[in-house]
Order: sequence, then structure tokens, then C-alpha cells
Amino acid sequence: DINIVSQGISDKVKVCVRVRPPLRKEFACEEVVSIDDSQEHASKITIMQEMDKIESHYDQAFSKETSQEEIFEFTRPAISGVIDGFNATVFAYGQTGSGKTYTMFGPHWETSVKNSAISLNQYLKRNGAIKQRYDLFDNQDKYGIIPRAIQLIFDRISEEQDRSGDMEKYTVYCSFLQIYNENLYDLLQDGKLKNSLNIREDKITGIYVEGLAEFVVNNSRDCFALMKRGEKNRITKSTKANIHSSRSHSIFQLCVETDKVDKRGMLKRAKLNLCDLAGSEKIINKEESMTKAHFNELRTINLSLTTLGKVIAALSSKGKNTGTKKVSFYNRKIKNRKYGPSIPYRESKLTRLLQDSLGGNTRTCLICAVSPMEDNVNETISTLKFADRAK
Ligand code: ADP
Ligand code: MG
Repeated sequence: DINIVSQGISDKVKVCVRVRPPLRKEFACEEVVSIDDSQEHASKITIMQEMDKIESHYDQAFSKETSQEEIFEFTRPAISGVIDGFNATVFAYGQTGSGKTYTMFGPHWETSVKNSAISLNQYLKRNGAIKQRYDLFDNQDKYGIIPRAIQLIFDRISEEQDRSGDMEKYTVYCSFLQIYNENLYDLLQDGKLKNSLNIREDKITGIYVEGLAEFVVNNSRDCFALMKRGEKNRITKSTKANIHSSRSHSIFQLCVETDKVDKRGMLKRAKLNLCDLAGSEKIINKEESMTKAHFNELRTINLSLTTLGKVIAALSSKGKNTGTKKVSFYNRKIKNRKYGPSIPYRESKLTRLLQDSLGGNTRTCLICAVSPMEDNVNETISTLKFADRAK
């Protein structure tokens, strides 16, 4: 038996695993992954592999019966903290088909956008009756983390405004981008996906993407519309540009700015990043000989996920020593001194982009999605190893 025991829990980085239920087409295959959730807070996942039993512990382990709401509760403190000025980053990691998109967006998100009878623009132009009908089809119980996060952010803003008698002003910016083959694409601009964007660094405001659209959103409805537009672009444009969406990262960002200023006279802002990562599987295609493009694709996914693993591992081990020391907004000096050179942010676009939102005053949640089936057991073990390094 192999037994991996948790090394202790960092409050900066929280790691959980989620097992999806078996799919209808998997009826002939055996389930080998289980979580005993007879107690309220389960943290152990068990894999039965031939004669071996592998057990592993995380901050939390979610069984196939887990609801979307329960997963959201795991991320709630981090997301809610954005209103209090803490950055938050949520990742869904795992092989293709393990439930990442289900967890971040909701069920059949891609197919429901693809199959909707009217285009998104038509939908947005039409009024009352159709909107209501459309909303009825949206099953709120099944909403994933992104729609729930949007609702939470706007709910918290109204609460804060009620408390302060409307004295506090909040501005929320929304952007949505995709990283594919170490290129960045804007999912909210109607231009072609072939124009990739560059990451720049500003001495004062930090990392930003040059030319990325940032929409001001006044309510969750506006924000939902952008989320849908981006997902739609991700599917249609990716197909045209021959990008496999399972091999790209998508990052939905909300930036909350208040009219309060910090010690240096800067507006206070905090950022929420919600990432549906590229599939972590090692794709070995024996039939078609590997083209150069295909090879590059695999190499860059590997690079960005490996770098992400290194960065999170470095942060969670530092988090353990530094405790809960509060770092002020965008205080780059403190951040650089503490986390600067030893963390390999620059090794991939994903970590470079999120450099400001990993470490420092950021709370990170890593959700590792796994399949319960025997067919997928090797990828499941490799996902659990990634999760182990991160905690
Ligand atoms: P990924 O994004 O990791 O490739 P998906 O989110 O597309 O995986 O999930 C693969 C399939 O499994 C989809 O049909 C999805 O609806 C289903 N699925 C995933 N997680 C769950 C879950 N927790 N409950 C029910 N169905 C799920
Ligand atoms: Mg997906």
C-alpha cells in the first residue's frame, strides 16, 4: 500500500479533489476511485488498482454525489475576499473529460451554447419573453463556480453599499481570455483569434495584457452575457483557428475597484481569476504520426502545467511559514521581497499572466477533477500527484 499523508494545510493555497460520476457510456467499465463521505468533512480519496490501494489526503475530497453548491462553498471564502481587497485565483485541473468545465461553468455549457437556436447577439437584443424563457432553461442548481462567483461578487457589493449607505463606489471590470500554445487571445473581442496579445508589466499597476478588452459590468446579468459570449467565441473561433479547446487554458477575470485609495494614493483593486485549465493528459496518438504543430502543442501544455505546479508548490510551502500576514493592495515591494526571484513565474505565459494573482495577498484554490473509472486510473494518479505537490 502507498500512503500519502498531508503535510499540513496552508491558508493561502487550498487543494481539493472532485470525483465526477460515471457517464452513461462508461457502463461497461469499473469504478475504482472512491471517497468515503459518511462524515461531514471528507478529505481522503482512495484508488483501488489491482492489488494496490492508494490513499491520499487533501484539504477536502468531494465524492461523485457532490453538488455544484458544495464545491462552490469550498471556494467561497477566497472569492468573497475579493470585495475585502484580497486577490483570488481558482484553478480546475485534470485530464480531459474529468469535469473541469462542468465544475467551472456548469453542465453541457459548451453544447448548450453551440446548440442554442438563436445567436447570442440575437438573444441579447430580444426582450422580456424570450429572455425569461431562456432563463428557465438555465438550471441554476447546476451553475458552476463562475456564474456563482459573479452572483456572489454583486451580492457582496450591494451588501457593502447598503451598509455604508451607498457611500462606497465599486467598479467591476470583466475580461475573458484563452492561452493556447503560449499565445494569448481575447475571448471578448469580435476580431479573429489569430491576433495574439502580449503581456506587459507596469511599474505601478503590475502585470497587464496589452489590448485586452475590459468591460465595465454593472450587474450579474451583464456579466453572464460576457461569460456566454466568451464561451461561444472559445468554441466557434477555436474551431476555425484549429485550436482544440481541451488543449487551451481559459481564464475569466473580474477586477473589483473601489473609490477608496491606499497609502500611496492608488485606487484599491483586487482581482478574481477563474481558470479552466487545459487537459493534463499525456496524449500519445499512435495512429497518426505526430505533426510538428501537435508536438508543440503538447510541449507547451506540459510546460505551463508543470510551471503552474512549481509555482503553487513554492507558494504553499512559503504560506506555511509566513502565516496570515496581511499584505496591502498591490504592494509590490513586500511581495517581491518575499516571493520574488525564487518562483518561476516567467517560465510560462499562464504563470506570468497570473503573477500578481498568485502569492502575495492572494488566496488560491486548486480543484483537481478526476474520473472514477478504471480506464482513466493512470491519469487520475498523475492528477493526484500534481495535487500532492501543490499542498
Ligand atoms: P473537462 O472539462 O474536464 O474535459 P467536462 O466538464 O466536459 O470535462 O465533463 C465531461 C463530461 O462529464 C460532461 O458530459 C459533463 O457533463 C460530465 N460531468 C462532469 N462532472 C460531472 C458531475 N459532477 N456531475 C454530472 N456530470 C458531470
Ligand atoms: Mg472542458
